[in-house]
Amino acid sequence: MSLLCITAHPDDEAGNFGGTLALYGRRGVSTAVICLTAGAAARHRGHARSGDELKAIRRDEFAASCRRLGVQHSEILDYGDGQLAGADIQQVTGDLVVRIRRLRPQVVLTFGPEGGVTAHPDHAMAGIFASLAFQWAGRRDRYAGQFEAGLEPHRAQKLYYSTGLITIEGRQPVAQAPVTLSIDISAVLDVKLLAFQDHKTQAPLFPIFEEAVRRHGGFEHWHLAACADPQLAREENDLFDGV
Ligand SMILES: [Zn+2]
Repeated sequence: MSLLCITAHPDDEAGNFGGTLALYGRRGVSTAVICLTAGAAARHRGHARSGDELKAIRRDEFAASCRRLGVQHSEILDYGDGQLAGADIQQVTGDLVVRIRRLRPQVVLTFGPEGGVTAHPDHAMAGIFASLAFQWAGRRDRYAGQFEAGLEPHRAQKLYYSTGLITIEGRQPVAQAPVTLSIDISAVLDVKLLAFQDHKTQAPLFPIFEEAVRRHGGFEHWHLAACADPQLAREENDLFDGV
């Protein structure tokens, strides 16, 4: 069994997906995270003196967080933080398609096109690129040049969007996808918190994050956005139901 998570920034893998990644990793599922930016536009910059230095630090923090979450393959691409809405759609989607064809996951996790509860535009775009890549990785008429390098099309079976049952007060409105699966992550809540804290440059966010996770964070919520087998929408118990 294998699962691929596609994110926008270092720390998303912990903050949005960490409980689920840790839980499935412990169950023996092979997990991977592809993050599209190195997070150089972050407000909190630690001791970094330049954007390049911050990128290097955040790449190390991301690797530490992924190790803690038991992620077997982790990778940061080099798209501009805060600039995904202007990124080349063919280029980014192709970069994700080639990785789906290499990693061959059954399940893909990402943000919804609204960008999750924070509605961050990079989260929204990561979800849109990932959704296209999920569909196109299985087709022979998309990125056919990749087949010359020995790759084969790969059809992942299920695509999930990270979603939730709360909104954040005082923010612009956001409409999230309905929850179709809630995963109890209480057994790995501390692992999720520690993985977030591996992002030491983001230390000023730790108290807010911990408070939110302890108050609302016993579950991570998912929306089944697409599946290879046509079916009626229903509540599920597990990401790999029916796989
Ligand atoms: Zn983010």
